[in-house]
Amino acid sequence: MNTAIAPIAPIATIVPVVERIETLLVDLPTIRPHKLSVTTMKGQTLMLVKVHCSDGIVGIGEGTTIGGLSYGGESPEGMKLAIDSYFQPVMIGQDATRIQVLMARIDKRIKENRFAKCAIETALLDAHGKRLGLPVSELLGGRVRSRLPVAWTLASGDTATDIAEAEKMLDLRRHKIFKLKIGAKTPREDIAHVAAIKRALGERGAVRVDVNMAWSETEAAYAMAALAEAGCELVEQPVASAAALARLVRRFPIALMADESLQGPETAFELARVSGADVFAIKIEQSGGLFNAQRVAAIADAAGIELYGGTMLEGAFGTAASAHVFSTFANLQWGTELFGPLLLTEEILATPLDYSDFELTVPDGPGLGIELDEERVAFFARNGQRKTISVAE
Ligand SMILES: [Mg+2]
Repeated sequence: MNTAIAPIAPIATIVPVVERIETLLVDLPTIRPHKLSVTTMKGQTLMLVKVHCSDGIVGIGEGTTIGGLSYGGESPEGMKLAIDSYFQPVMIGQDATRIQVLMARIDKRIKENRFAKCAIETALLDAHGKRLGLPVSELLGGRVRSRLPVAWTLASGDTATDIAEAEKMLDLRRHKIFKLKIGAKTPREDIAHVAAIKRALGERGAVRVDVNMAWSETEAAYAMAALAEAGCELVEQPVASAAALARLVRRFPIALMADESLQGPETAFELARVSGADVFAIKIEQSGGLFNAQRVAAIADAAGIELYGGTMLEGAFGTAASAHVFSTFANLQWGTELFGPLLLTEEILATPLDYSDFELTVPDGPGLGIELDEERVAFFARNGQRKTISVAE
């Protein structure tokens, strides 16, 4: 009698590959004009990218900028073009599960384009998380917190309106950290604006300012002393150059944060080398992706620089991706400003993100842990049912 057990035929391991990439532009109105020193935003354009894999899994990523090309060298329209024309051929047929290998392949063929790379990397991580049943935070080493403090930006351009808005946010228990966008007016006018808001809020709300590089070094030196006197606790990117930041840091009893100067790990290292900031505002798009955002955080930690989770005013997908990365940071001393979806009038998720008790909950489902409302997005897609035009002025 033959008792031999028939060998089990090996199951061929089929590696899921990238099959198709879809991009779309979604134009959404903002709840009010958002005034920065570089532009006034009346709407936001999300570039959404869907990476379709051969195992049927679809990952979604987002590329978003501030005011078209007002902030940096990439625009939503440019990202769409770059992905359709250049990323797609490099990615089709490649193993969708080896994300760092695929990102290295992209980096070799495509220079710059940090925002578009971030959108693609987000989509690949979302897909892989869905495939494994794990949140993106766990693919990135594991979260150390599930709730993130969220600052709100007051940028109506009017002091009384900003105070009323801050009071509303305190009442709703949504935000108690307020960032004021200044730099479009004279430093003297700006300081009066900041001081009036801080006086109105007192100890109930923290006040910080973002100058978006609008000042010269001498203006910054004058203004930082006055801002400290007014009770402002932090000034973000008052000047453009890293050398000037390094000369300003620690001269005043107010924290100095770098934002625009940070464009990935190399710039973070340079800034750390010259001790050019007390705090880094880390943004996933500016960093060139989620892994690079973690590298920037590691450089900051090593240099004794504190951390803040920044936003490119992303919609839900960029915000969720940022939340997953920030949840993994060992230190996050200054909280985050992940309020992007709250600036938009329209919800594009089947279930909105949870903002409550001054914090955002990091989603805990597989991938980014959020689901796109396809019908809503089709409605707001450029050239969709609701005829929109570019929000760029
Ligand atoms: Mg900023």
